[in-house]
Amino acid sequence: MRLLVVEDDKDLNRQIVTALENAGYAVDKAFDGEEGLYLGETEPYDAVILDLGLPKVDGVSVLQGWRRAGKTMPVLILTARDRWSDKVGGFDAGADDYVTKPFHVEELLARVRALLRRAAGHATSELVCGPVRLDTRASRVVVDGNPVKLTSHEYRLLAYLMHHQGRVVSRTELVEHLYDQDFDRDSNTIEVFVGRLRKKLGVEVIETVRGLGYIAAAPEKV
Ligand code: CA
Repeated sequence: MRLLVVEDDKDLNRQIVTALENAGYAVDKAFDGEEGLYLGETEPYDAVILDLGLPKVDGVSVLQGWRRAGKTMPVLILTARDRWSDKVGGFDAGADDYVTKPFHVEELLARVRALLRRAAGHATSELVCGPVRLDTRASRVVVDGNPVKLTSHEYRLLAYLMHHQGRVVSRTELVEHLYDQDFDRDSNTIEVFVGRLRKKLGVEVIETVRGLGYIAAAPEKV
């Protein structure tokens, strides 16, 4: 899952980005409304964390700009405590949720997880595909009850496929949603990661759809 953080407070931006990266997401960052607006319009994010008080272009205008451009990714806004009108303005502009400053980063993470799973149509934070269970809260994967240790890239890949279970995901889409902007992207590495992931999981839950991409599906019972 790839996220964007738009926050002009450098320390807070770093704090949020670090927490999200530690939770297994690929994260891009912007420090003003103009940069944020541009990134949100041009890059495919799974969710965005958007501060409302931003230099150059304010957060509500950024959000309106994205929605006008047809961008439907979930957006969580960051608002000041005493500014209830900001929340109203934010929701009217197309926000999906908000967190009031100052906040505990754990709350932000929980809200982001909820936005991501709702966007993908899942009701709980645990994703299940046949014998594979992926706990998005703890970033843990279990196969037939046994924990499997994955690298952050392998985890991201599996989490993305399992969020979109039953749908073919192209290699291009994976590259766009698994790596941040600064990463040296190469779609060939996806094949390598899929290979490693299959080996570690030891069960057939990732199928290759020739010429199209990959699909996560529960193995058929024999
Ligand atoms: Ca601000």
